[in-house]
Amino acid sequence: MKIAVADLDFELQIPYAQLEKRTKELAKQISEDYEGRSPIIAGILTGSFLFVADLVKNMEIPVEVTFTKLASYFGGTSSSRKIRDDFDLTIDIKGRHLILVEDIVDTGNTLHYLVDKLRVREPASITVCTLLFKPKAIEVSVEELKYVGFEIENEFVVGYGLDYREQGRSLMGIYRRIG
Ligand code: 5GP
Repeated sequence: MKIAVADLDFELQIPYAQLEKRTKELAKQISEDYEGRSPIIAGILTGSFLFVADLVKNMEIPVEVTFTKLASYFGGTSSSRKIRDDFDLTIDIKGRHLILVEDIVDTGNTLHYLVDKLRVREPASITVCTLLFKPKAIEVSVEELKYVGFEIENEFVVGYGLDYREQGRSLMGIYRRIG
């Protein structure tokens, strides 16, 4: 089924049932890996807000949840490679286990910037969990990337938190651009 978001057409790629199932698997894996610890889950806004909510709902360990906000697409359909830092983490991460949660890793530039920025605050560890990963688009590898929901082609997607021109975030599924 074809849908329009602003001036572009999209089709369903990953239905919500699959997102939900995979998110539960990731939550279980993270809960096992961090058993006995209480990590900080730091969502990278805006795109990760639904994924963070579904992920923490299914965790079996105590977690703290916080957010930071970065932007890199600025209304287009490809990375500008410029990162705007909108707001910082407010929790002290020194000595804590930090799990950064992304909606999608594309070129890797955003994560690389963020991991470098946070490392100087001396967390005990940093790992990254992303719902989507475009391996063919990667320009800067991010060794902290440990948890990946789905690998996708180098195509522009919206839905489940991801936008095109601030629209499409509430779609309950991942939709890829067609045409
Ligand atoms: P990177 O710095 O890895 O190139 O880009 C990461 C950010 O770019 C993501 O957090 C997301 O905001 C945006 N982005 C990358 N690919 C897509 C995409 O296919 N769709 C949307 N809506 N945003 C994307």
